[in-house]
Amino acid sequence: MLALCLVWTCTARLAWGADEGQILLYLSPTTERYFASAGRSYEQIIKRWPAYLRKYGEHVRTLGREELLADPPTGVLILPTTVALDPQERAAIERFAQRGGSLLGTGLVGSRDAQGQPAGLDFLHTSFQVRSHGFFPVNDNTFFVPFGDGPLTWPIPAARRMGLSNTSGSLLRISASHTSAVALDWSRNVPAEPHAVMAFEETPRGRVAYFGVSDDAWPAQRDNLLLLDATLAWLRREPHAYKAAWPHGHQAAHLIEMDTEDQFESAPNLARDLENAGYKGTFYCLTTEAVRHPDIVRDLLRRGHEIAYHADVHFGFKGDAVREQELRIRFMKQQMAGILGERAPEATGFRAPTESYDRNTEMLLRRHGLLHHAADESSHEDRLPFFSVSEPGVPPERALVVLPRTQMDDVSFRLKKLTPEQVGLTLANDLDLAVRSGAFSLLSVHSQNYVEGGLMRRTMPDYLRKVTSYGNRLWVTRGDEITRWWRQREAVSVDSQWRSGGLRLILRNANPEAVAGFTVFVTLPARQASLKVTAASASKVAARTQSIDPFRAAIVIDSLPPGQTELRLNF
Ligand SMILES: [Zn+2]
Repeated sequence: MLALCLVWTCTARLAWGADEGQILLYLSPTTERYFASAGRSYEQIIKRWPAYLRKYGEHVRTLGREELLADPPTGVLILPTTVALDPQERAAIERFAQRGGSLLGTGLVGSRDAQGQPAGLDFLHTSFQVRSHGFFPVNDNTFFVPFGDGPLTWPIPAARRMGLSNTSGSLLRISASHTSAVALDWSRNVPAEPHAVMAFEETPRGRVAYFGVSDDAWPAQRDNLLLLDATLAWLRREPHAYKAAWPHGHQAAHLIEMDTEDQFESAPNLARDLENAGYKGTFYCLTTEAVRHPDIVRDLLRRGHEIAYHADVHFGFKGDAVREQELRIRFMKQQMAGILGERAPEATGFRAPTESYDRNTEMLLRRHGLLHHAADESSHEDRLPFFSVSEPGVPPERALVVLPRTQMDDVSFRLKKLTPEQVGLTLANDLDLAVRSGAFSLLSVHSQNYVEGGLMRRTMPDYLRKVTSYGNRLWVTRGDEITRWWRQREAVSVDSQWRSGGLRLILRNANPEAVAGFTVFVTLPARQASLKVTAASASKVAARTQSIDPFRAAIVIDSLPPGQTELRLNF
């Protein structure tokens, strides 16, 4: 206990004292010699670091070999693509960590010896608490995909595809207790092999963070710098508070929807499976089919599912004249009005047949009162809802909310001729990644695959058991609920400032109404550190804290009133 307390006091001072969080950039002459012998410039490979670190001013120092060997005061030691190390350098780095320093490494740290010969990855494994599993193949279809709301990656929206350049056979597959990014292809297919590329850990002495990417593989982009900001903040034990993607302390969201078209009468089968698991879904209805089964549509609505549109007939919209597209939208609405009567205005979602649409489609949907569009995997780089950009200048409160499908659907499963077992495994792996990524996940199933003995009919009960196993971590709800939340969330801003040893958190709710379950995530200065939240005297809100993992806590506000609310966070 005593040891822990001492470490805690020491690190708290490190983060908040006068000389907080010294950052040391190590320039290894051994690594420099190794790259020079291969005809490459080490300075060029790591050129982003000195430029990036300038903003830390007096807190940054570059370190040569002699200084490292002389045991400098601890802080964060950066080992930038420090591929080759001699025995004394290795020992000094180990001592630095033993003395309570934190490490940030990129690329194949210590994988070569003083002569530049391969030395294995043991030093890397031990220093950063990771295991490695070979390399990713070199191609231009590999993306660095960080986890949303993560302790080291929170400035980047969930599962954004971040491009890598020049991975030249050195993108390491790693696994670790705590990972914060994975490498995936463009469609975000989850590989069977380990595929993490960023990991972090807190030992009783210090913190470590590791990127399995060498520095020259990063294009100069704002996102990469934001990632470094958050990683260094975590290593320096600076707590940060940020708006969570989801309400009520959930970590990810899931929409299970049916494209309800051919074999329309199978829709109640999915409804029943969802209800047995305690969920509601969205049924995007092809209205020329729906009019033949009006009782089914009305019954689904009565049972609490969302009824939405899958257009009038099963043809795409892309490239068609505005007048033609508008006629179809009017017609589908007219058909739905005939089925739902006075409840027809509740149908506010749309999904284009074959995911074929263009800017005009989205413009028309909004003009005709639709609120969300369930779109394709190409619609966005992030695995989150977003506001349509089809009509420039339309503010978020009026813009169409787009819900991107970011995983394979049953059409792809059929094309790939997957067995029900393979489908089950694919869905389970994807859901697992979605939850770890803090992502929005949209599973699209088709009515024709939900008939008795159909592929999805056989797969879904097991899948739904898997969904249920995530409990409160996963928010499973209808498309209109996700849409409403996304709009409300957008109108709340979260700011925080350090004030005498704590965080002052200011929430501004510009919605006309109170927001239920608004959630702020907070990174903790130490593993399982306690977090105390108090409302400023003028702000009367009920806020509870909830542990997310050893490094994050959530503050969940039952009902966030319009206007400004101030909270005080102490650790
Ligand atoms: Zn369809």
